[in-house]
Amino acid sequence: MDVLLVNPNRYKSPPVPPIGLEHVSAYLVEQGHKTVVVDCCFVENIPAALDSAINAFSPDIAGITIRNIDSVLLQNNEFFLDEIKDMVNYLKEHWGLPVIIGGTGVWTNPEGVMEYLNADYVVSGSAEESLLTCLNSIEDGNQEKRYFKEYGTGTIYCPRNSDLTDYRKYSDANGIAGFQTHKGCSSSCVYCIEAHTRVRFKHIKDTIREIRCLTEGGYHHFHLCDSEFNEDLDFAADFCASLNKSTLKITWTAYMKPANYNKKLFRLMKETGVYLITLTVDSFRKCPEYQADIEKMIFISQSCGIKMSIDFLTGFPYESEDDIIQWFDFFRRLQPERVNVNTSIRLYKILPITGIIMNDSALRKYLVGYTGDDTLVKPVFYNHIDSARLTDLIAGDRLFRIEGIEPGVNYTRLVQSS
Ligand code: SF4
Repeated sequence: MDVLLVNPNRYKSPPVPPIGLEHVSAYLVEQGHKTVVVDCCFVENIPAALDSAINAFSPDIAGITIRNIDSVLLQNNEFFLDEIKDMVNYLKEHWGLPVIIGGTGVWTNPEGVMEYLNADYVVSGSAEESLLTCLNSIEDGNQEKRYFKEYGTGTIYCPRNSDLTDYRKYSDANGIAGFQTHKGCSSSCVYCIEAHTRVRFKHIKDTIREIRCLTEGGYHHFHLCDSEFNEDLDFAADFCASLNKSTLKITWTAYMKPANYNKKLFRLMKETGVYLITLTVDSFRKCPEYQADIEKMIFISQSCGIKMSIDFLTGFPYESEDDIIQWFDFFRRLQPERVNVNTSIRLYKILPITGIIMNDSALRKYLVGYTGDDTLVKPVFYNHIDSARLTDLIAGDRLFRIEGIEPGVNYTRLVQSS
């Protein structure tokens, strides 16, 4: 089939290159399909951009990737689906194209997002395999099945065509290139849509080839696209050792979780150009070992010359202000680079935390944005410590920053503050 692939993501704090579409496009082409990518990130007139691509390509079907359905933070929340809905309607009504949606954003509620957008099909799990199955089903004339979910097994084989993206535009707007070493996460954070998703690793040589390709185009600054780099300590160390051996000169930044680490890994990361780690931390029902891991990771990271920022989600049901103050004291003692504090928990239908909150009527008064629509496609947050109270608790300490007040992510803030 001839497939028009659309990146509708126009969020620019910072802009994120559509790496998923680079993979999906290359994979579909290998499987005998034809693709054209329309990246709407910097486009001024979206219908004109779609018209131009459709006139030149005459696709049979369109696929739209949805990275996030909103900006995930309560403060200054941006909801993206209404603009995407306009694109879906335009493709369907003006051009008569069936529309498939996919991407991490639809995992939150695949069928709910499909209905909201008036799309025809939805794919989740591993995009490449699910999309291929969806296309095959449509080609076979199957009208009934609209939701396709596959995770695949074994080592990931997925080609990538980074020539599809105009990296110069992203780079000029403070965006950076990305690469991925694996998919999925074995952790069980109750607020995260990636919890307990199947872990599959890529061939290390494939990832290094992708990085080489981008460095040959002049791009040397990268963000790791894994949910957390240290899913597996041995794999992470092997990846760094191979990257070192490749002699590629890059700088990169990664997310990590408080688990699966040792000093050797941090040393290897430093040698390969890691300058900043964002550690994902939450306060939900933690054991003392969890805090001990955080403490050691901050200490080792700093001793290896890597800055460590903390993304700290707190203010869970049944937590008190005293609990949060104790966490703040803990971070004050450790002095990481920065602690980004978020006390608003975005609720999605599939999350365990949503069940905990919805099943306790005493907690419902802390819902923000809830109108009785249990699809939770439109932003709904749990928030019992609002930003005014949080500001009081932080008491002007510049170690802490309230998420959502200013736009940006850790690597852009670090550049701005250095
Ligand atoms: S460790 Fe990170 S990616 Fe994994 S479930 Fe927790 S928050 Fe999600």
